[in-house]
Amino acid sequence: MSVFEKLESEVRSYCRGWPAVFGRAVGSRLYDERGRAYLDFFAGAGSLNYGHNNPVLKQALLEYLTADGITQALDMSTEAKGELLETFAELVLKPRVLDYKVQFPGPTGTNAVESALKLARKVTGRRTVVSFTNAFHGMTLGSLAVTGNAAKRRGAGVPLTDALAIPYDGYLGAGAPDFGLLERMLTDRGSGLELPAAVIVETVQGEGGVNVARREWLRALAELCRQHEILLIVDDVQMGCGRTGAFFSFEEAGLTPDIVVLSKSIGGYGLPMALTLLRPDLDVWEPGEHNGTFRGNNLAFVTATAALRSYWADDALERGTLAKGERVRGVLAELAAGIPGAEVRGRGLVQGLALPVPQWAGLAARAAYRRGVLVETSGAEGQVLKLMPPLTVTDEELTEGLAVLADSVREAVERAPEELGALG
Ligand code: PMP
Repeated sequence: MSVFEKLESEVRSYCRGWPAVFGRAVGSRLYDERGRAYLDFFAGAGSLNYGHNNPVLKQALLEYLTADGITQALDMSTEAKGELLETFAELVLKPRVLDYKVQFPGPTGTNAVESALKLARKVTGRRTVVSFTNAFHGMTLGSLAVTGNAAKRRGAGVPLTDALAIPYDGYLGAGAPDFGLLERMLTDRGSGLELPAAVIVETVQGEGGVNVARREWLRALAELCRQHEILLIVDDVQMGCGRTGAFFSFEEAGLTPDIVVLSKSIGGYGLPMALTLLRPDLDVWEPGEHNGTFRGNNLAFVTATAALRSYWADDALERGTLAKGERVRGVLAELAAGIPGAEVRGRGLVQGLALPVPQWAGLAARAAYRRGVLVETSGAEGQVLKLMPPLTVTDEELTEGLAVLADSVREAVERAPEELGALG
């Protein structure tokens, strides 16, 4: 029995599908203790958009460490934080004509979501937050209340309250009117719905099955929020930092959310960091009203700044991501054409293959692992094979990984139905 099985909690998850013991990683590849290489089409759940140990970021980090730059600084002002804020304003906010105050809410995505929910409730004096079917916002209680997955919600152990889940785009099938229900409930005094504080939305649901909201749907949602003075929170934890092409996933739809949450790849190097961006007039926090020990991971600030300077001073990464995304989509579409009921969906370098038999996706992911490619499934039934390589993946790596995935999907689909039954 390995030390992991003996000592580590049963809660562990990714290591079950990928039981290798990893040691090194460079770019799009991880290496296990025996030196076997694995191509990474998961990118740390979206936290490694610039690849593993990206040399440019590593250099900045090494220089900072060598100079005894401060590592942990609570929320004290530091040179590294100042540089990050200036760079973020210059390269991200200014070119997009966005005016946000920046909050450091704690190191993880769920920290940022919690801060956004708290702030929305404080600003409006209201309680309810509207969320969407198959949404994923994190594992702490506030975030769980706006997360769809039943198994994850059960883990809370207490009632998850003050949230209302409504259908995401496409949930009711094509042709269903967008927001008809919410609109009616907001205007009908007999509906039983209190005016919500906020709506929280992902423009593409990553964990929920690579569900892509249409531009018109997002715009209608923003308009509905504006009309009823409900705050719009975009959770860009997974889809931000270029995953869908543009830096923010909501740029394509032309939205200006009231609050934006970012984490995962904002630190650049896989180092924990999160940001909550708020409209300046919403910044009603009292000093220390929302705090936390680890809001000053200066190593992450250094790599975040280096990532912004290296990748967001021009549009080369965005163009590359869109082009690579098209390639992935093309291969998946060909594959889907041979599988009745299969569907391809995604934007930029997050692409999903939804399979008509949910177990096929899991079997394909397992087969891919055997062949040296890491890829995850998503969706309520794990029915979607979700491809999310680093944005820095090379064309050769894409060719190699996509060939393996195509073989793996074909292998899974060929499995006899009785075998699938045995898998449960
Ligand atoms: N929001 C979204 C959209 C996410 O995908 C995730 C993580 N998968 C989170 C929030 C939570 O982030 P974390 O795991 O860092 O708490």
